Amino acid sequence: MRSLLIATNNPDKFREISALLSDLPFHLFKMEDFPQLSAVEEDRATIEGNAAKKALETARAADLLCLADDTGLFIDALGGEPGVFAARWAGEGCTYRDNRLKALQQMSGVSDRAASFRTVVALAAPDGIIGCEEGRVQGIITTQERGQRGFGYDAVFEVSGTSLTYAEMSDSDKNTLSHRALAILAIRPLLERILSLR
Ligand code: IMP
Repeated sequence: MRSLLIATNNPDKFREISALLSDLPFHLFKMEDFPQLSAVEEDRATIEGNAAKKALETARAADLLCLADDTGLFIDALGGEPGVFAARWAGEGCTYRDNRLKALQQMSGVSDRAASFRTVVALAAPDGIIGCEEGRVQGIITTQERGQRGFGYDAVFEVSGTSLTYAEMSDSDKNTLSHRALAILAIRPLLERILSLR
């Protein structure tokens, strides 16, 4: 069976990505399976840049096919903040909840609540990037946290065309329509092509 390393240290992302790839005959590895690998610094200005950097550096270090995900939340009324800096928006060492509360506080009294979630997934082999794909979902920032599921900003992001936040959806429902699901859907043909090669 072919091996694929999911280059993320985020267990929530790993859970979603592994469910999205569960029907493909890859043996999925986690970063924990390679304790000797050091974390890749996410210092690029875009999610595309960070995803590609994480995939390529990890593929080289582990000598394996690698899939990396970088995600950003872009809030229109805040000029696209937090964008690529979504992880540590509320400060170094902040929690998911600190970030959600910052979003609610920054958006307090703001009428234009439009936002988008974007994920770029990058696939790399040790000798180079194979491809990058993006998934994007429009939504609005809620006025309070809603829902118990999911992670990160899920409880403050209501998906357009539904009346639900990601945190109000089951994991499998989120995985049918999320930014990450769309990105994985877009990169599946490349993964299937690799599987078809001998
Ligand atoms: P990064 O891709 O690791 O830089 O992720 C940035 C941050 O965005 C994470 O730390 C989470 O707070 C948030 N995030 C990433 N994906 C999701 C998601 O699917 N839902 C909600 N928040 C997310």
